[in-house]
Amino acid sequence: MVLLWLALVGTLQVARLKNYQDTVLFELKWDRRYPWRFSRSGNTFTVRFEGTSYKGPLRVERDWPLLRRIDVKTSSWSTRFTFTLPHRNFRVRIHPVKGGIAIWIYRHGQSSRAPPASGGGHAIRRIVIDPGHGGKDPGAIGWGGVREKTITLQVARKVAFYLKKWAPDLEVRLTRTRDVFVPLAKRGEMANRWGADLFVSIHCNYARNRRVRGLETYFLSDAKTKWARAVANFENGALRYEVEDEEILQDVLKGILSDLAQNAFLIQSQDLALTLHETILKTTRQPDRRVRQAGFYVLSKAYMPAVLIEIGFISNPREARLLASSSFQDRIARGIARGILRYIRVYARKNGGT
Ligand SMILES: [Zn+2]
Repeated sequence: MVLLWLALVGTLQVARLKNYQDTVLFELKWDRRYPWRFSRSGNTFTVRFEGTSYKGPLRVERDWPLLRRIDVKTSSWSTRFTFTLPHRNFRVRIHPVKGGIAIWIYRHGQSSRAPPASGGGHAIRRIVIDPGHGGKDPGAIGWGGVREKTITLQVARKVAFYLKKWAPDLEVRLTRTRDVFVPLAKRGEMANRWGADLFVSIHCNYARNRRVRGLETYFLSDAKTKWARAVANFENGALRYEVEDEEILQDVLKGILSDLAQNAFLIQSQDLALTLHETILKTTRQPDRRVRQAGFYVLSKAYMPAVLIEIGFISNPREARLLASSSFQDRIARGIARGILRYIRVYARKNGGT
């Protein structure tokens, strides 16, 4: 009788347990769909399955940023998985997949640092400049073989130079200072860990139509146009150098806008984008391709006002030549540095600071 019952209830088995930066995937295989219930409390959450037992270890320990431990309690009629995380800043998404169920854990909410700049009274002191791409990821290859990763680094260095020259009180860091590969999520994480107040990512644009040129500045939100979505897709494509699993990649991309952390900074990011865009145009006199919004993965990982600047089209012969020249890079860098300082002044006024 007992044997028959066991045969009827079937079992759950672990199919996958994977960690990717701020995401954990726990996948169970099942013989048929079982009802489940989810509950959370503090830094733990529980998923309970009815009508099924479980075969496998009863405790799994991991030293991951989003997972410490999974404890399993199982009987012939139900199984309970309890997940213990190092903190309570997480979200969970559970959905059936082919032949089983997937449990995703995402990081969510503020990093451990003090409240965001919007809290008021908090001065802007730390700036992170993020030169796009690097190492095995060249970014876009432009007219005459110009590489995006080279230009972004050169411009970022100049931005840091001008910021330090004009505002010695500011602390400025680059996410990379050499031609090395840095994963997209790590760029935001570096800024979070350091307690940065602003995040400015520098990129070069690319279009099939070689005549297109000009400046575009982005903040993180739903893409409003096909073009904005295409630009974000290209930049997010750098993830392919880090994630081999296509399914995880797709899920990571889908999660970009569902991570509400950046929403807290939507207004500031938009202000920052507008300010930078204007000041750069003043120094470079490029065609104005406007401030836009789209789902950039690199921005979604930075929990502070964050923008991405497409400083020009390396697919345009004329602009590619300019972008590769030290004097034009200097003009862009001065525009960015001026924009950052102007944003800080306006922000300080809004907050009654000095
Ligand atoms: Zn890029």
